Amino acid sequence: MKAIQVREFGPPNVMQMVELHDPAPGRGQVVVRIHAVGVNPVETYIRSGAYARKPELPFTPGADAAGVVEAVGEGVRRFRVGDRVYTAGTITGAYAERALCDESTVHALPERATFAQGAAVNIPYATAYRSLFHRAHAAAGETVLVHGATGGVGIAGVQLARAHGMTVIGTGGTPEGRARVLAEGAHHVLDHRDPGYLDALMALTEGRGVDVILEMLSNVNLGKDLTVLAQGGRVVVIGCRGTVEINPREAMARDAAILGMVLMNGSEREIHGIHAALVAGLENGTLRPVVGREFPLAEAPAAHEAVLAPGALGKIVLLP
Ligand code: NAP
Repeated sequence: MKAIQVREFGPPNVMQMVELHDPAPGRGQVVVRIHAVGVNPVETYIRSGAYARKPELPFTPGADAAGVVEAVGEGVRRFRVGDRVYTAGTITGAYAERALCDESTVHALPERATFAQGAAVNIPYATAYRSLFHRAHAAAGETVLVHGATGGVGIAGVQLARAHGMTVIGTGGTPEGRARVLAEGAHHVLDHRDPGYLDALMALTEGRGVDVILEMLSNVNLGKDLTVLAQGGRVVVIGCRGTVEINPREAMARDAAILGMVLMNGSEREIHGIHAALVAGLENGTLRPVVGREFPLAEAPAAHEAVLAPGALGKIVLLP
C-alpha cells in the first residue's frame, strides 16, 4: 500500500510517499481501507520534532481517518468486513491507504456522514466535547465564547454547544469563516482581528461576560479571556503556541477557573462515552463536520502548511 512516511523530524517535505506491506489484523484488530484522512495541527508539531511525545522513526502520521473495514482479526465482535467506520487512533498511522487499528479505537460512521466528514470527527469533536462537558461542565442556558470558531475544533464546539442549549458566540478571522460559524449554529459572531471585538462581546452579554470560553490560541488570548468571563466562568486552554502574561487578580475577582485540556489525558471510560455521543450526533444530524479543503495524500506537505495558515474554514482532509 501507499503511505506517507517520516524518516527524520523536520519541515513538511520530510513526509515522503512510500510503498509499504499491507497490514494484517491480529487478535482484536481491524484493517480499515482509508477513503479520507483528517489533518490536525498536532501532526505538524510531531513531524517537526517539537512535540513533547516523539514517535520512533520512521513513522506514518495521523490518527483520524474514515473508510471501510477490509479485514477483521480473531475475537473482533463490533465490526464486519464492509462496515463504514471512522478511527480515533491507529496502530500503523492514518496517512496511508490502509490502517491497522485496535477494535476499541474504531467507531461506526453513520450513513448521513461522508468519508471526508468521518475523517473530521475524532480529534476535533472529541476535543470540543471533552472541553465543554468534562472540563468546563457547560450547562444549557449558559453562554460560551468559542474563541477561534472557524477551524476543526471550533466548528465542532459551536455545533455541540448549540445542540446542548447554550448561547453561542464564535470568532473568526475572515468574512467567509465568520459566515460559516453563523451557518453552523452560532448566535453571534465576532472578528478576533478587530481591536474592539471584546468590547462588542461584553455588549452582547449586557456587561455580564461569558460563562465558558473554548480557547484555541491561549498564548495570545488568555489574559484578555479572564477579563470577559462572568462570575464563576471557566476558560478551557485547548490551543497554545507560546507563553502569555496574565493578571491572576482577574481570575480571583470572578472565582474563575483556568482549565487545561489535552484529549490524550481522557480516561478510557471518558473516551468511550465521547464517541457514543459523537456517533449519536452524527446519526441525528446535530453534528455535521465541515470539510474546507481536500488534498491528494501525496500532497500531505502542502496540507501541513495549510493547516497552520490563517483563514481556517473547517477541516483539511487528505484523500488516498
Ligand atoms: P485549525 O482548524 O487550524 O483552526 C485554528 C483556529 O484558530 C481557527 O479558528 C483560527 O481562526 C483560530 N485563530 C487564529 N487566530 C486567532 C486568535 N487571535 N484568536 C482566536 N482564535 C484564533 O485548528 P484546530 O484543529 O481547530 O485546533 C485549534 C488549536 O487547538 C490548535 O492549536 C491545536 O493544536 C489545538 N488542539 C488541541 C487539542 C488538545 O487536546 N488540547 C486537540 C485538538 C487541537 P481564523 O483562521 O479564522 O483566524
